[in-house]
Amino acid sequence: MSEIIWTDVGRDTARLLSRYIQIDTTNPPGNERKSADFLEGFLSSRSVQSTIYTPAPGRANLLAKLEGDGSERPIMLLHHMDVVPANTERWAEEPFSGTLAYGHVMGRGAIDDKGLGVMQLMAFGLLKDSGVTLKRDVLMLAVSDEELGGKCGAQWMVKNHWPDIQCEFVWDEGGTGTLGIMGDRPVFAVSVAEKRGMIVQLMAKGAGGHGSFSANSPLNRMVSALNRLKSSQWPVQFGEVTKSFLRNVSETQSFPSSWLVRNASMPLFRSFMVKKLASIPVINAMLRDTVTVTSVQSGAGMNVAPDSASARLDVRLLPTTEKSEFLRKLKSVLGDDSILIESAEPPPKIGSSAMDSEFYETLARVIYRRVPQSIVTPIQTPAGTDSRFFRQKGAQAYGLLPAVLTQADLDTMHGVDERISIANLELGTRIIYETLLELCA
Ligand SMILES: [Zn+2]
Repeated sequence: MSEIIWTDVGRDTARLLSRYIQIDTTNPPGNERKSADFLEGFLSSRSVQSTIYTPAPGRANLLAKLEGDGSERPIMLLHHMDVVPANTERWAEEPFSGTLAYGHVMGRGAIDDKGLGVMQLMAFGLLKDSGVTLKRDVLMLAVSDEELGGKCGAQWMVKNHWPDIQCEFVWDEGGTGTLGIMGDRPVFAVSVAEKRGMIVQLMAKGAGGHGSFSANSPLNRMVSALNRLKSSQWPVQFGEVTKSFLRNVSETQSFPSSWLVRNASMPLFRSFMVKKLASIPVINAMLRDTVTVTSVQSGAGMNVAPDSASARLDVRLLPTTEKSEFLRKLKSVLGDDSILIESAEPPPKIGSSAMDSEFYETLARVIYRRVPQSIVTPIQTPAGTDSRFFRQKGAQAYGLLPAVLTQADLDTMHGVDERISIANLELGTRIIYETLLELCA
């Protein structure tokens, strides 16, 4: 087994990412077939066979396997090939150029999720090259359609091809390492659970009329109801994952803040600490259900009070919130029985993945070795990921981009000038490779 020169690996990973970004997989429409062919090309150059599944014309999912001796159940590396749209005019570089500059790879997907994809791909290739005997299969799955719900991607694979997967552990997106956001030590937040997204539609109907004397029009009623919604506070729940998260990040604080963060759920400090913690949006989203108004529609002529108004809410439920209980509360917050509430079905309630599994403990050990002084903690992701489909099948799924990102880096995700550093690509590939080696060899 020849020694791995990690700086070379970092550079190769960056070049691979640059080419991967150049394949435009904006979803819709996705067109991930081209990117699946690209990944297949890389894998076959390393003598790894892969299978491409076709859920719909132009769409694709790719599965590759390094065979183990079967004494343990498989582990699967998972990423999605599709990306969200990019508004070219606001970018410094063309979003699909994959420009390599200033030690970074730029372009849509650099963080979400092609960056993770190339780290996994390189680690997978290195594991193959190492020739070590594996005690479990190592799978790599690249899926389409994550950004729009996974109907052609992860959901489709689990529904139609679960026998090809049947893994014990999944390594997905959902968390990342950060620096400068919580204290001055790197914090690696590993997602073990996620909120459940649900779209709610509100509709007000009634008499419109002349713009000069229609104060009670449906639109005015909707505005008042949304105002009450905006100023409402949703109940706080300290679940096990949140408590563990607070215990871990308390180490980034000095006394007495560290003690208060660790004991935030104690009745005596609860209301003070909730206010303090909830001022950080990501932590607020771990503590309670959240509601964001994403659309309001109404309007007729300039001097006409319209006879209908609708609004759409992006609701994210905690893993334990009942839909019916949430809707009851929503109705009382809106405070207007004439407003109709309709909602889609949220994903089913699923427990979180274990915080003391062999996977989690191995990953944490490798991170502590590679990034001394860091803190590894479980979190509950505010957004949805493909992990839910695998958790529903009983797999333990963990979300982590093993990189150290600043707030400025994070702001580029789904935003403008998305980028990742070559140093992070090297670090992430190494963390994945060493974790796989310890878990599988
Ligand atoms: Zn993503």
